[in-house]
Amino acid sequence: MGIAPEFPVTATRYESVLSAVIERSVGPQAAEIDRTGAFPREGVQALGDAGLLGLLSAPNVGGGGESLAAAAQVIETVGARCASTATVVLMHYAAVAVIEAHGPQDIRRLIARGDHLSSLAFSEVGSRSHFWAPMGTAKAGSEDGSEDTVQLDARKSWVTSAGHADSYVWSSRPLAHQEKDAGGAMTLWLVPSKAAGLRVAAKFDGLGLRGSASSPVSGVNVVVPADARLGDDGAGWDIAMATALPTFLVLNAALSLGIMEALVAEAGAHLARSRLQHLDQTLAEQPVSRAALARLRIRTDSVRAFLRDTLAALSTERDDAALRVLEVKAVAAEAAAEVADGALQLCGGAAFRKELAIERLFRDALAARVMAPTTEALHDFVGRTCLGLPLFDAPGE
Ligand SMILES: Cc1cc2nc3c(=O)[nH]c(=O)nc-3n(C[C@H](O)[C@H](O)[C@H](O)COP(=O)(O)OP(=O)(O)OC[C@H]3O[C@@H](n4cnc5c(N)ncnc54)[C@H](O)[C@@H]3O)c2cc1C
Repeated sequence: MGIAPEFPVTATRYESVLSAVIERSVGPQAAEIDRTGAFPREGVQALGDAGLLGLLSAPNVGGGGESLAAAAQVIETVGARCASTATVVLMHYAAVAVIEAHGPQDIRRLIARGDHLSSLAFSEVGSRSHFWAPMGTAKAGSEDGSEDTVQLDARKSWVTSAGHADSYVWSSRPLAHQEKDAGGAMTLWLVPSKAAGLRVAAKFDGLGLRGSASSPVSGVNVVVPADARLGDDGAGWDIAMATALPTFLVLNAALSLGIMEALVAEAGAHLARSRLQHLDQTLAEQPVSRAALARLRIRTDSVRAFLRDTLAALSTERDDAALRVLEVKAVAAEAAAEVADGALQLCGGAAFRKELAIERLFRDALAARVMAPTTEALHDFVGRTCLGLPLFDAPGE
């Protein structure tokens, strides 16, 4: 019925391969991945083979050298068909942003070739969604006496692609500062997922994004070379703010947008084909249903406008770019939850009973709000920014 606009923004050279991969390998698997909770290996591999896992990698290591806007288009488009697959790619892109800035050439080349999947291991059991305050430790040297190694210990509470990624961008307290901190003091490491001492502590069994393998991972006496450090000791938060965080926040908003587009399209198609036989009318002929659909469309379009403005602010280095970045995930996540709820109400029992993809999309839509920085944390960050306050109180305040 043509109510959803065409997928937007830039015409990149990846557009045609992207739709081919989605039609062949991502879309057909989505319902089964949701049902079984299986990791979307085939879709991720196909995206890698098509060059899409190397989209953000620099051309000098063989990557696509594409913009964050292009990555947002990929995540939105994949997310509209399989939000689990999109989550895996989104966490990979966020990790790649750090690795591109501070990682080794050989891994960057593998990523560019689509032969290396990464993810972020920030959230911890101890500090929960406050990932800016890692409790995990890094100690110079290891038990075997080696001085050019570092020993990492942590209980990571959530790592997407746990046990499936090739590496994790891992946060710890700084080597030089092992005390508890309210936030902002951290060091980042590139940890191979096969490193001895790492263990995926439980199979992921969540409400939505069920194929994303977002499991807890524990690290006990994990020894990495000292040069596995990504950036300076203690510079982790600044690096995350400059690389992983903007990438994650913008792309998470793009994922919410993709889910919203799918919800609106699914609801519109349902209204067009479902009949009230006693009235000889479709649901689309009911003014109340049309108005409800319009509200979902308008909410979705408002998020698209906000996301585009955020991307424009970033690409033109506008003064409000940092504020937009802090806002955009909260705007999109809350809107996605609202549109998911509205689509369920609009399509009624058919949506509640898995007759439509709305039931799956509803569950997938709810994750963004609780992925850190959560909506509450982002509201606090935005409020602090408006008031000219630092994002965190200094220790002891
Ligand atoms: C599908 C999925 C994939 C994920 N993938 C990754 C990943 O790859 N890497 C990674 O590092 N993490 C990942 N996470 C973890 C995520 O980023 C959060 O850390 C996690 O969801 C927080 O859950 P929690 O129960 O620990 O939250 P809690 O910290 O217990 O928060 C629970 C609720 O309380 C609110 N809250 C917390 N503190 C305050 C406060 N001081 N004031 C007011 N409200 C507060 C929060 O906003 C939240 O709504 C993932 C999460 C999900 C759902």
